[in-house]
Amino acid sequence: MLEADLRTDDVVQPFQLDPFALRGRLVRLGPTVDRILAQHDYPEPVATLLGEAITLAVLLAGALKYEGVFTFQTKSDGPVRLLVADVKTDGAVRGYAQYDAKRLGEITPGERSGDESPSVPDLLGTGYIAFTVDQGDDTERYQGIVSITGATLAECAQHYFRQSEQFQAGLKLAVGRTDDGTWRAGGLMLQRVPPEGGRQRIADDVEDAWRRVMVLMSSTTSAELVAPDLPPRRLLWRLFHDEGVRVYDTHPVEARCRCSRERVAGILRAFPPDEIDEMKEEPVTTVTCEFCNTRYEFTADDLAALGQN
Ligand SMILES: [Zn+2]
Repeated sequence: MLEADLRTDDVVQPFQLDPFALRGRLVRLGPTVDRILAQHDYPEPVATLLGEAITLAVLLAGALKYEGVFTFQTKSDGPVRLLVADVKTDGAVRGYAQYDAKRLGEITPGERSGDESPSVPDLLGTGYIAFTVDQGDDTERYQGIVSITGATLAECAQHYFRQSEQFQAGLKLAVGRTDDGTWRAGGLMLQRVPPEGGRQRIADDVEDAWRRVMVLMSSTTSAELVAPDLPPRRLLWRLFHDEGVRVYDTHPVEARCRCSRERVAGILRAFPPDEIDEMKEEPVTTVTCEFCNTRYEFTADDLAALGQN
């Protein structure tokens, strides 16, 4: 088990703890999270919070059974008014944040040790979190919405599971930087499905096992979750070797935006004609992708040509 796959970065590592079939995933992000955060010049707390949101989205997208896109989004009245992270089942990840620099500067952050997550009440304030699963045109879009409740994003997600899902989950998220400033992130999630009726004896055993693994899980440090030299399988073994940990094939992830000039043109084509006419008066209209900061430029001629398609 240990030596077969020692890829350390940009992977989702599913696992199971026998004998009670507690399922989990360990996510480790290296270049993926560094690239997304480096595309923007976010202040440290915003970048850290977005890094956590991206890690959370990758953890949760690992549960998708069909091709599709999983989106995690917050909308709130705090200095960080928007966080978006989305993950395609093929492993493409992207994300961005919107924030108010002035209000961000006004909060006096408490001393944050390397093991603590950014404060959700300080940064996000009051608002909601939306979890969306979009599995293509032929299927219905699923969206779960919950109010932002919790001190950290991990706590907010757990609140959501308690409210709206049929399972209990334990969750840990970590974002950090190496000495040269490179961003790294890691996350660990364990879930259990409540037992069916009439199986009380097993349920008690599962309850014990669940409590035990939650204690083990909370013993993981942020440093371990983001460590470049600690392959996910080794970390799982270190934590859960007494719990019969079994690993499955990993899924790779990478930072990849889905924007293109064609897509931007499609959006412009849907604009009212008078707005397009206004744009034509400028020498160049620039549309910037909020996810990856790519700039698409349209001259008046380009805009005129849109209408002819
Ligand atoms: Zn883009």
